[in-house]
Amino acid sequence: MPEREMPLPTVLDPRGRTFGEAERAAVLRVLDSAVLCSAFGSEARSLEAEMTGLYSRAEAVACSSGTASLHLAVVAAGVGPGDEVVTTPLSDFGTVAPVLAQQARVVFADVRPRDGNLDPAAVEAAVTPRTKAVIAVHLFGAAADIGALREICDRHGLVLIEDCAQAWLGEDGAGRLLGTVGDISCFSLQQYKHITAGDGGLALTDDPALARRMRLFMDKGWDRAEGRIHREPGLNYRMPELIAAVARAQLTKVAEVVRRRRERAGQLVDALEGLERVTVAEAQPGHAWWLFPLLVDDNARWAKDLEAEGVPAMPGYLEHPLYANPALPGYPPGLCPQAERLIERTLLALPWNEAYTAAHVTRIADAIRAVHARAVAR
Ligand SMILES: *Cc1c(COP(=O)(O)O)cnc(C)c1O
Repeated sequence: MPEREMPLPTVLDPRGRTFGEAERAAVLRVLDSAVLCSAFGSEARSLEAEMTGLYSRAEAVACSSGTASLHLAVVAAGVGPGDEVVTTPLSDFGTVAPVLAQQARVVFADVRPRDGNLDPAAVEAAVTPRTKAVIAVHLFGAAADIGALREICDRHGLVLIEDCAQAWLGEDGAGRLLGTVGDISCFSLQQYKHITAGDGGLALTDDPALARRMRLFMDKGWDRAEGRIHREPGLNYRMPELIAAVARAQLTKVAEVVRRRRERAGQLVDALEGLERVTVAEAQPGHAWWLFPLLVDDNARWAKDLEAEGVPAMPGYLEHPLYANPALPGYPPGLCPQAERLIERTLLALPWNEAYTAAHVTRIADAIRAVHARAVAR
């Protein structure tokens, strides 16, 4: 098949993932050691040390998924029955699942239309005496307004959790690394993220007390240095050694993955300049480009037309805001109008990949131009 007719590399395709000799060697190293559980091995502990080095934070806790890392964070923040946690309706379900697991209430604040990230004014308005924490998601790799959210949390005595699952090595407008401002920052190694070991998660903090609570909850409330005593409730969220070893290899590649994604995204941003019916949502230099978000006037139609040109696109990113899922009963439609408008009308998310070549991006740009010309002619 000629290159220009080949489907674009994806996260479910060896071309679109960065697995190589280092990952193969990592798997064999662990297998040959016979220790596959991280309670007894060194790979997960080494991954934690390497993650603290990458982010210059004091402590990292490795665990079984991004959702698990958020559960560690929510537990460490002291969230329990009847408490409230403020977050966005435009995110993966993993952002809210831990709040539900703690029998606490998710309070949804609306988002900014230009990038789908939390609107700080809406967060402020959602705070009540029962609020314990705010979870800020850096959607698609674009920075939430973490300075304003930090200020709100400080003023109300709330724990700020950064959900960086889509924002590996992203930066805000001031060049601050995303994941260095929140009390706790959570990362995912799930198949679709910048780097992956299939599943896996990491939680970062500078606070030793928060780190200790997360570490205990990750391993059945059991401080193994103390003997077989369970001082607090906990689950088994341990990261297996095979996963940790692969994640260590992937962690050495994340900077290059983000660099390549930025380079190609820059090419597409330039190529789309001057098109009046399509804009790039918030294209700041620190964007980590997990997906490539566009704003259009009719996302369902655009997605269908782009698909016909061989370019996959997700209208709205989600089918519904998080609060419209059966797992979250009791929230009225229209609760967050900006999020609903993004999902139903304006947001179009293109899969993005570090393996895209300049030719791939030209192909994507040509498809967008063709669909745009049709939109203008309508
Ligand atoms: C992927 C993701 C999660 C959940 O991570 P898992 O590893 O799939 O559990 C949470 N939040 C956001 C924003 C995500 O993209």
